[in-house]
Amino acid sequence: MITAIDTNVLLDILIPNPQFLQKSLTALETAFAEGTLILSETVYAELASQFDHHDTVQAFLIDSHIQLHHATPDALYLASEAWKTYHTHRPQHLTCPTCGHQNPFPHCSNCNHVFSMRQHIISDFLIGAHAQTLANRLLTRDRGFYRTYFTNLTLFFPQ
Ligand SMILES: [Zn+2]
Repeated sequence: MITAIDTNVLLDILIPNPQFLQKSLTALETAFAEGTLILSETVYAELASQFDHHDTVQAFLIDSHIQLHHATPDALYLASEAWKTYHTHRPQHLTCPTCGHQNPFPHCSNCNHVFSMRQHIISDFLIGAHAQTLANRLLTRDRGFYRTYFTNLTLFFPQ
């Protein structure tokens, strides 16, 4: 069983996030007990941004038994297809969470509410496509995004 690890789970453990630390740690230990742990270039880079030295990143990965597996052309092409789907189906208007008015920007012209929206960037798609192509499942806390754009990817949630 090969488990790809998403950045959010590793950051829960490193930062650490008191709400998710224990669940993420237990899930990582379970995944290791059941097989191999891998990460993508994208997760490596996101993770490394939390360290001051490259040696420390490497030491963390060795201690955690997590191996860097490089994306294949198939994985990269799959990322591009999912990215294209996202752009094609992205709604033209944003619904105000307060009054339901449709707006072109995350600022409601009806009730003046300024709301945040989660924009996806291509790194999200690279992580999903890498896991679907090179692993049996992705250990992540993100429930909605991967389910929408990577329907053949098995997800493993910390719980
Ligand atoms: Zn509104």
